Amino acid sequence: MALKIDLDLCTGCGACVAVCPFCALTQRAEDGKVEVNEACTACGACVEVCPVGALAIEVAERQVSAEEQAAYRGLWVFAEQRAGRIQEVAFELLGEGRRLADKLGVELSAVLLGHQIQAGASALFEHGADKVYVVDHPALAAYTAEPYSEAMSALIKKYKPEIVLAGATSIGRGFIARVAIQVSAGLTADCTELDVDVEKRLLLQTRPAFGGNIMACIICPDHRPQMATVRPKVFKQPTPVAGRTGELIVEPLTLKDPVVKVLEVVNAMENEVNVAGAEFIVTGGRGLGSPENFKLLAELAEALGGAAIGASRAAVDAGWISSFHQVGQTGKTVRPKIYIACGVSGQIQHLVGMNSSDTIIAINKDPDAPIFGVADIGIVGDLFQVILELIKALKR
Ligand SMILES: Cc1cc2nc3c(=O)[nH]c(=O)nc-3n(C[C@H](O)[C@H](O)[C@H](O)COP(=O)(O)OP(=O)(O)OC[C@H]3O[C@@H](n4cnc5c(N)ncnc54)[C@H](O)[C@@H]3O)c2cc1C
Repeated sequence: MALKIDLDLCTGCGACVAVCPFCALTQRAEDGKVEVNEACTACGACVEVCPVGALAIEVAERQVSAEEQAAYRGLWVFAEQRAGRIQEVAFELLGEGRRLADKLGVELSAVLLGHQIQAGASALFEHGADKVYVVDHPALAAYTAEPYSEAMSALIKKYKPEIVLAGATSIGRGFIARVAIQVSAGLTADCTELDVDVEKRLLLQTRPAFGGNIMACIICPDHRPQMATVRPKVFKQPTPVAGRTGELIVEPLTLKDPVVKVLEVVNAMENEVNVAGAEFIVTGGRGLGSPENFKLLAELAEALGGAAIGASRAAVDAGWISSFHQVGQTGKTVRPKIYIACGVSGQIQHLVGMNSSDTIIAINKDPDAPIFGVADIGIVGDLFQVILELIKALKR
């Protein structure tokens, strides 16, 4: 993308110069007409204010022709691993990927990047992969975006998959957008539903838009591959088939020396129950009233045998608890067996992150709170009284 200036139309009014956040526009001394420098990011802020339409953002389209598209076949899942452990989101994507690949009549492949991680391939086969591409390289030992995107882009350019899926985790989000740019593909982040149009070979990517008020179905008809990220817990894990195998392709790649070097990996969540993978979650909202009252939730969590603590964005924004705990559209998507919402009103942005929970229990003093619309069990009352009674009952 680049900013294009029509000097015949430009009147030298300077409106664009005033709004440019990057000081990328200057006016010529001789006639005041505008010039752009290398600081321009093509953000488009100037285009909106130009009163005479002299500015435009030009998109350099690299569309893939129908013949070229036919060369792209197969569905790939990025198999995220941390310290050699394949992350659950990879299995969840393989489950959904299997369904979509079967509909399209193509192979399902997993891509495993790291160092000394080849052993992880067997679990990927058992969860449905027909092929596993492995890139084993010291530069991939600890995750950084640069070598990961370099390796993934090289594989995509060589093998041409038509669909690439990755988890919308900090790692998946961190490098897959770079890959999309490097291979000139489209990318839809945070999908909540996927399907395929078999006839047109399109990935139908559904995700919340406009603050969660509508569900948009996004397609990418002109570019390949079609790429999407999906949050953990959106799809269920398939049942693994013990002993199932497939084709292992170990790809020897030469990667550039990365600019960013990882000196140490610190697990800040070591002593915390991870809300994203928890089977039981007790969530506190603004109704808790103060950060100290999260201690009461911690007691309830303990009485439940070690539940994770979740939080609404209101509680996080108030600084009562860290954003690691936030559930919802801009937090984690969770799918626990039991979700107990305490003093959470149930706005749509919260609900999209937890409404797939098996059983939802809501405690709220307002009988009309929207949370009761998704709750399996609703308790109308003061949360402080109800939680104390629950703890007593659980201890009994
Ligand atoms: C783009 C965008 C993204 C967002 N992402 C998220 C997100 O990821 N997660 C999220 O949670 N929100 C998100 N929000 C914010 C969301 O819209 C709500 O503002 C937020 O969820 C409200 O949090 P809450 O339910 O804790 O607070 P409130 O809406 O203020 O509700 C507090 C509830 O507590 C009840 N209550 C008060 N005292 C008691 C008591 N003593 N006993 C029992 N009940 C009591 C009240 O009746 C009320 O229902 C997002 C908003 C936007 C615009």
